[in-house]
Amino acid sequence: MSTDYKFEGWCGLDPKAAEGNMVWQEYEPKPFSEDDVDIQISHCGICGSDIHSLRSGWGETPYPCVVGHEIVGKAVRVGKNVKHIKEGSRVGVGAQASSCLKPDCEACADGEENHCPNTVGTYCSKYPDGSKSYGGYANYNRTPSHFVLNIPESISSADAAPMLCGGITVYSPLKREGCGPGKKVGIVGLGGLGHFGVLFAKALGAEKVVVISRTSGKKADAEKMGADGFIATDEDKDWASTNANSLDLIVSTVSSPKLPLMGYLTLLRRKGVFIQVGAPEDALPQFNAFALIAKGCKIGGSLIGPPSEIQEMLELAAERKIKPWIQERPLDDANQAVVDMEDGKARYRYVLVNQKVAGKQ
Ligand code: NAP
Ligand code: ZN
Ligand code: ZN
Repeated sequence: MSTDYKFEGWCGLDPKAAEGNMVWQEYEPKPFSEDDVDIQISHCGICGSDIHSLRSGWGETPYPCVVGHEIVGKAVRVGKNVKHIKEGSRVGVGAQASSCLKPDCEACADGEENHCPNTVGTYCSKYPDGSKSYGGYANYNRTPSHFVLNIPESISSADAAPMLCGGITVYSPLKREGCGPGKKVGIVGLGGLGHFGVLFAKALGAEKVVVISRTSGKKADAEKMGADGFIATDEDKDWASTNANSLDLIVSTVSSPKLPLMGYLTLLRRKGVFIQVGAPEDALPQFNAFALIAKGCKIGGSLIGPPSEIQEMLELAAERKIKPWIQERPLDDANQAVVDMEDGKARYRYVLVNQKVAGKQ
């Protein structure tokens, strides 16, 4: 079967793409296999990772690229081997498009496909056949079905999109590190990921959720999201000592390497855990070993989440009616939206909307 649609999207051609210089053009997706799903995209969130990738911040990006990995739309072509996705269904794709899925792969066999050594990212990656992966600032997307999720009916497409990367990236470490009743949780950086951190930590029943931001500018919003406390690190010079030993778990979403890591570790209680999910382009600051050994604390990292956990998060979001704070932007204005995102203007996640198809699916 051949398709009667072309794959077109906002292509980054060089690092200047991150400054709003993407170009709308056609590109060649991976060859269709009977395990794949084609999606007519209605919505795609703008993640901080899109900007790092557009400007080759994490290493040379294989231009031309189409970024965007918070994709929602309609399944318009479904391979014969695919069981869980029906043509016409509302589906989504997060930041991962493929893994080896072999029984002798420790990560895949354990249901942690996100840590598979042969992972393929939704964009800027290569499939085993050598073809490139292209993301969601586009009209269509083609992804292997294992990484295509059904979106619960009660979550709107615009709300579901940013959950697929921004949401799962904080949900996963919160859940795995025991966020729940009796736990005091800190979320560093109130951006796209951070705001999901507050919403999910509350939904998981944390006793206290504290936002750690640079200034007090987002304090009122944090409180409306459900935060119980707020620390402004650029404004209160004694913030670390004043709030020392107050948190069991901290999830840091900060995208810059200029973070006061020693101060954050001071906030941990005995046996506390600090998880970094923000992915700065340069090394994190040094810290003193006593910041860990004196209180028996741990520092770690976390990478998105496997499809099963994304589905679990979506069910929780549907059940608890979790409402992300998003701002819709027309797909046609993707370049300006990327510039505004980089300027820190999103409150708290931009979602690109293809107005030609949204609402008509
Ligand atoms: P975002 O919306 O831009 O949020 C980042 C937040 O970091 C800002 O809102 C800001 O919070 C804080 N920040 C502190 N210092 C900063 C500085 N010098 N410049 C800019 N922001 C600063 O981005 P996001 O989409 O949430 O993504 C955050 C990071 O997570 C990115 O590095 C992204 O690549 C990474 N990420 C990782 C994964 C993973 O699997 N580990 C998945 C998705 C994204 P305040 O204003 O409150 O200080
Ligand atoms: Zn992302
Ligand atoms: Zn694997």
